[in-house]
Amino acid sequence: MSLKDRRNNDGYKNWLRVGLALLATRDGLTDVTLRAAKELHAELKDKLGDSVENCKCNPKKKQECKDCKPWRQELASYYKGNKSQIYWTNCTPSKWSKEPWEVAKGHNI
Ligand SMILES: [Zn+2]
Repeated sequence: MSLKDRRNNDGYKNWLRVGLALLATRDGLTDVTLRAAKELHAELKDKLGDSVENCKCNPKKKQECKDCKPWRQELASYYKGNKSQIYWTNCTPSKWSKEPWEVAKGHNI
């Protein structure tokens, strides 16, 4: 199929439309998600401070330190699913007080 034929193919045009719709949806969801992460992060930081920056735990070895425990407890309280499914290994606790996206990462499935 030549490029000209492809551009005139209704099925191909629909795929392009779907692609554009997915890009627009992704952009919209990214904005909403990032805004929500920033709002939650500001709330958590006001409540818990930034002592978590001294975190010495190693999530990959399931070793938790006292500096991040309040943040873990608070983040878990926002999780609506089974708490054992929170992806702590996806997080870097020492960044929780600095980066909103680090707070959101624990809730990524
Ligand atoms: Zn820690």
